[in-house]
Amino acid sequence: MNAYLARVIENVKAKHAGEPEFIQTVEEVLTSLEPVVEKHPEYEKACLLERMVEPERTISFRVAWMSDDGAWHTNTGWRCQFNGAIGPYKGGLRFQKDVNLSIIKFLAFEQTFKNALTGLPIGSGKGGSDFDPTGKSDAEIMRFCQSFMTALHRFIGPDVDVPAGDMGVGTREISYLFGQYRRLRGAWENGVLTGKDFASGGSLVRPEATGFGSVYYLENVLKHEGEDIRGKTIACAGFGNVTWGICKKATELGAKVVTLSGPDGYVYDPDGVTTPEKIAYLVEMRNSGRNRVQDYAEKFGVEFFPGQKPWGVKVDVCMPSAMQNDVHLEHAKQIAESGVKYYIEVANMPTTNDALKFLMEQPGVIVAPSKAVNAGGVATSALEMAQNSERLIWTEEEVDKQLHRIMDNIYNMSVEAAEKYGLGYNLVAGANIAGFQRVADAMMAQGVF
Ligand code: GLU
Repeated sequence: MNAYLARVIENVKAKHAGEPEFIQTVEEVLTSLEPVVEKHPEYEKACLLERMVEPERTISFRVAWMSDDGAWHTNTGWRCQFNGAIGPYKGGLRFQKDVNLSIIKFLAFEQTFKNALTGLPIGSGKGGSDFDPTGKSDAEIMRFCQSFMTALHRFIGPDVDVPAGDMGVGTREISYLFGQYRRLRGAWENGVLTGKDFASGGSLVRPEATGFGSVYYLENVLKHEGEDIRGKTIACAGFGNVTWGICKKATELGAKVVTLSGPDGYVYDPDGVTTPEKIAYLVEMRNSGRNRVQDYAEKFGVEFFPGQKPWGVKVDVCMPSAMQNDVHLEHAKQIAESGVKYYIEVANMPTTNDALKFLMEQPGVIVAPSKAVNAGGVATSALEMAQNSERLIWTEEEVDKQLHRIMDNIYNMSVEAAEKYGLGYNLVAGANIAGFQRVADAMMAQGVF
């Protein structure tokens, strides 16, 4: 391996020994940049990679809140403002009990390349809290969001850092956060957050955008193989906002999602999550705060597999859309054995590095990386920012058209970047290289700081 690259990876491993997810993503991304780094010796002198793996600023703060029974609780909040070279920091907030700094940093690092791939002026950031929203009342969620924003508001702004949703943070939470920001700032700055409710300046199509975008990306991959999405079966994981959008768009285009998963197991619905009633029920399950996918099996009389993951089910396309490291090497082997041809990552880093390598080595499997596939969410957030700063509202058709164009563009840029460096049809390396190049150009142009 290129000596400079190897040294940077080794240094990250030594310095961040307690942050396994962060190390994992740095290793995955940097390794695929080898041909680019070889071609640009000037990067070493400018300390470019060392700067790229160091967040510009990370904030950690206390979030104290009161539950309905009058008891006080304390959680930790974080915001990692990773790279601002091409735009204000941008990325979601995750509320989930296992969240820690390593997870926030891996997500923020991934976001750097993802956001650059959209071609829009957005830097990278991520934040969240180890707060567990499961079973919390609406009033508890509101008080938590208000407390979280009270600590965070001085570090964000429409031109500084624009948070959005992620796991455990949807429209309701974003709107509570915005309400508190407005109260504290005393100004109408709705460009400070994206994924807001429509009346507060949220964009049409934003709730569906990550799912829709991933299906548009999938269509590009299928086209490359001379295939059509019509009639395809898809295994999804998760049952949140992203999976909901996938089910909706896949159904519209004549495909069907046959699995969903949750922390309790997975469901297999051979008829597909295709009727309006089933699709709407996903939203209901998420809003219930129960975090259980078994409810779906009970309501629609399909099979539930407690404690298991849907990998290995015979389908045409796998779209892991739940969370990081959901697919390990043994699952990857099951996926390859069951004859799946398309492995389309949707959740951030859903595949361990060894499982990803294994799948990429299978001659019959095409792998697409999450940072490209799920970029439609953040891209539509950038469209929301554009609408907020223009003080305009775009139609559904306009937003969807832009989203579709952006996804096609991401796919094409990835294909071209891999080809340029002689890597063939490699969507994983192509996405890393294309995203990297844009941020690298800006950082080189702006001087060393
Ligand atoms: N959390 C989503 C992501 O990882 C959305 C971020 C955003 O809209 O800013 O891209």
